Amino acid sequence: MPNENMEPGVSACPKCGQAMHPAMVKTAIWRGERLCVVEDIPAQVCDVCTEQFYDEETTDALRQLMEEDTAVPKREVLVSVFSLEGRIHRREPDPEGVYADY
Ligand SMILES: [Zn+2]
Repeated sequence: MPNENMEPGVSACPKCGQAMHPAMVKTAIWRGERLCVVEDIPAQVCDVCTEQFYDEETTDALRQLMEEDTAVPKREVLVSVFSLEGRIHRREPDPEGVYADY
């Protein structure tokens, strides 16, 4: 629900209706097997749910950048890759719910 006490010029978060403020953000995008980080993205960030929204021009620029095969990264970072394999602990099935065949 929109916040009635919002300052003028401040837009409401489409997700939760609270005030958003401009901020420079970064995002990570997979291009096939390649993980790309894009920074210096002007966004509106919700103060409450931290959701980020880009305007149309920013979305277009981001899409164009990701479609450009010749785009040159400004730097490279080493990314740590973790795995959840063997770390998921499923609960035992409820014995009451198991059908016993005598
Ligand atoms: Zn929000």
